[in-house]
Amino acid sequence: MKKITIAIDGFSSCGKSTMAKDLAYEIGYIYIDSGAMYRAVTLYSMEHGIFQGNQINTEKLQKEIGNIHISFQLNPETGRPDTYLNGINVEDKIRSMEVAFRVSPIAALEFVRKAMVAQQQEMGKNKGIVMDGRDIGTTVFPDAELKIFVTATPEIRAQRRYEELKDKGQKVSFNEILENMRQRDFIDQNREVSPLRKADDALLLDNTDMTIFQQKEWLEEQFNKVVNE
Ligand code: C5P
Repeated sequence: MKKITIAIDGFSSCGKSTMAKDLAYEIGYIYIDSGAMYRAVTLYSMEHGIFQGNQINTEKLQKEIGNIHISFQLNPETGRPDTYLNGINVEDKIRSMEVAFRVSPIAALEFVRKAMVAQQQEMGKNKGIVMDGRDIGTTVFPDAELKIFVTATPEIRAQRRYEELKDKGQKVSFNEILENMRQRDFIDQNREVSPLRKADDALLLDNTDMTIFQQKEWLEEQFNKVVNE
């Protein structure tokens, strides 16, 4: 069967990663969470004095961006890939609210995007990849054979995220999550470089009233349509 490239973009916390991971597992493709890469750059910046309060020392980050190596390794316990920053597993750290509050301004920097997009394109050069993010169908893989743009109401997205973090034992408030999501969506949609938008040839999926299972079935159907064309 021919291998294709699958791009899944959309707003924050709308279940992109869950559907992308499940599909990749079912069809034996590589799964890459591009948001984890921007989160890892943000964590690096927090740990290396690149943030002064909310200000970003862009000059310092630009000098150091070449030293930031991000990779993924399958975690045999969860069956999912964990994110590594310069060889250290940072999967839990990058999911914290501290990182969530700082990631969008970092992801808006042109030199950061350039470095990440180059790595992402390298990872997908042989196809057989499912990548999720904000600009995968528009910038990273504009020729992807299957593009999906996912959305859901802000309240339902915040609720899902709240439950996910609570299950992981993180102390968070629903309102804090909702506020963070709105802020990130705003910055992601309005930045100058590769803003979040639906590619013209992407299929729109509003999963507000869908279960994970229904979403999974829908995605597999779309995949089968494309590969059997
Ligand atoms: O997908 P996730 O919510 O983990 O992404 C974290 C942040 O990384 C997003 O809010 C966005 O600012 C940025 N991002 C991006 N481009 C991508 C993936 C994520 O700008 N392809």
